[in-house]
Amino acid sequence: MIFILLGPPGVGKGTQARLLAERFGVESVATGDMIRAEVSNDTELGREARSFMDAGDLVPDDVILRMVGARMQNGKGGGFLLDGFPRTLAQAEGLDRILSKIGKPLNGVVSLRVPEENVVERLGNRRVCPVCSRVYNLTSQPPRTPGRCDDHPDAELILRTDDAPDTVRHRFSVYNAQTRPLVDWYRSRGLLREINGTGSVDDVLGRVEAALRSS
Ligand code: AMP
Repeated sequence: MIFILLGPPGVGKGTQARLLAERFGVESVATGDMIRAEVSNDTELGREARSFMDAGDLVPDDVILRMVGARMQNGKGGGFLLDGFPRTLAQAEGLDRILSKIGKPLNGVVSLRVPEENVVERLGNRRVCPVCSRVYNLTSQPPRTPGRCDDHPDAELILRTDDAPDTVRHRFSVYNAQTRPLVDWYRSRGLLREINGTGSVDDVLGRVEAALRSS
């Protein structure tokens, strides 16, 4: 099974992707996490991507497609949940090429929707584990010990540099200009499931799971 989770920054894709990947027994491919790992390992790809990421801009399509193509061709065969990819029409077309290479269809696309003001607030309260990328929210999903990851108590949770308010606003405009058109593109192919992303993590998970099981 191959699914895409689509939605603006801070809509809850990362949190849902982690839970859904476990439930459906598929591998989560989160391009943002993959790029952050490249940056922190100071690889060539990381050095190439860093300035785009810090500015809240998209990393060039060819860099992303090479990274995702390699990852999907080395998959364990159980399927993928794509989180934060594709983000442009060129990436969506590139994904089609990758899928035909590995001989698998795209089963569905979940578009998570929440009002923009909720999302800006969520991002200000978001903290991330630098080891496992698990996402916390200081008010709605705090860690057991303040400032520490539940699964990696030695790791101090961080505020992503691109979660600064000005960069968040820019990321929204990038989403609206470059990624939102994919919603119509996948709708016209009959693959889109639009899901209300407000409410508790469990509420949203239940809705997404129901939509995916009926795909
Ligand atoms: P995310 O963790 O999904 O919010 O992504 C954080 C940042 O990584 C984005 O603002 C982009 O700079 C970069 N990024 C992640 N995924 C992609 C992608 N599919 N295409 C281009 N840039 C990406």
